[in-house]
Amino acid sequence: MIDYTSQPKDNNFSINKHSLQAVFGIPGVVFYDSVISDNLILLSARLKGKTAKCTCCGKRSKSVHSSYTRKLTDLSVTGRAVKIILKVRKFRCRNSRCSQTVFSEQHLPLTQKYSRLTDRTSHYLQRLLIEVSSRKGEYISDLFSIKQSSSTCLRIVKSIEMPDYQELTTIGIDDWAYRKGKSYGTIIVNAINHRPVELLKGRDKEEVADWLKEHNSILYVTRDRSSSYSNAIKSGASKASQIADRFHLVKNLGDHIAHEIRMEYKTIKSSWLAHRKSLYKSKENNSCLSSGDNENTSDSQYNKHTNSVNHRKQELFNRIHELKKKQQLSKSNCQCFKY
Ligand SMILES: [Zn+2]
Repeated sequence: MIDYTSQPKDNNFSINKHSLQAVFGIPGVVFYDSVISDNLILLSARLKGKTAKCTCCGKRSKSVHSSYTRKLTDLSVTGRAVKIILKVRKFRCRNSRCSQTVFSEQHLPLTQKYSRLTDRTSHYLQRLLIEVSSRKGEYISDLFSIKQSSSTCLRIVKSIEMPDYQELTTIGIDDWAYRKGKSYGTIIVNAINHRPVELLKGRDKEEVADWLKEHNSILYVTRDRSSSYSNAIKSGASKASQIADRFHLVKNLGDHIAHEIRMEYKTIKSSWLAHRKSLYKSKENNSCLSSGDNENTSDSQYNKHTNSVNHRKQELFNRIHELKKKQQLSKSNCQCFKY
């Protein structure tokens, strides 16, 4: 039974067993009592079944030796912290060949050995804390009424099991900055699931080649335009095919187009001017057919237009300068006024 002597009894209430199972239900666990106060929900729980498997030999026993309680933190409900008081039984092992005489019943999937959190709380915190620092984690976990210290937050993150990837066949190699413009290392990414595999301290050919030699399964390597990586791949994974990655292919294309435009800029500009001039001429010819104007008239019209454009630009330039001067004057007046 729950000891709720520390809780003010007047405000406490409980809910029936069926509702408890519906709200907090965990397979294999029976919730048989509850105390709900303003900011805390205390639940009494025990494991189902009259027997338990010996942790050493695996033989079932129904001989209860003793019991003890564990206090577990569960996910909060309606802003109230939830604590589960779990009754754990100890059984005698009747197997004469077993070295274990007394064992505790296992609590899976409720919690792990020595843990003060339920499994679902641990998983929730792992997803939350992987996104933030341990200090922020301490603050946020307090907001969710499952407060953990910063060191516990770190321990929870470190307990996350790393996924077991299949052997590497396709990787991407690129450089990455420890400090931009100062020191660079090499990042190796699994190109199938887009997850980093390794961070190498430098960009040396030997270092990358050594890493590749340790991974014989690699068949394809995508890389940038660096000749150092190209040589490292030839040396460390000679059978692997080298592929220029999409980013660098697009960059190559862009660089090439920009280079071609720069080279042909003068030709393009002169052709454009000639084309514009011819447009004016044809327009003038069409409009002046009746009046019998000649080619000189068209040229003068074109020059007139160019002059007027230049004149408008100059006017705009002067106007902007006047406004700038006015602005500077007003600023200096304001400063004078301040002092
Ligand atoms: Zn045993």
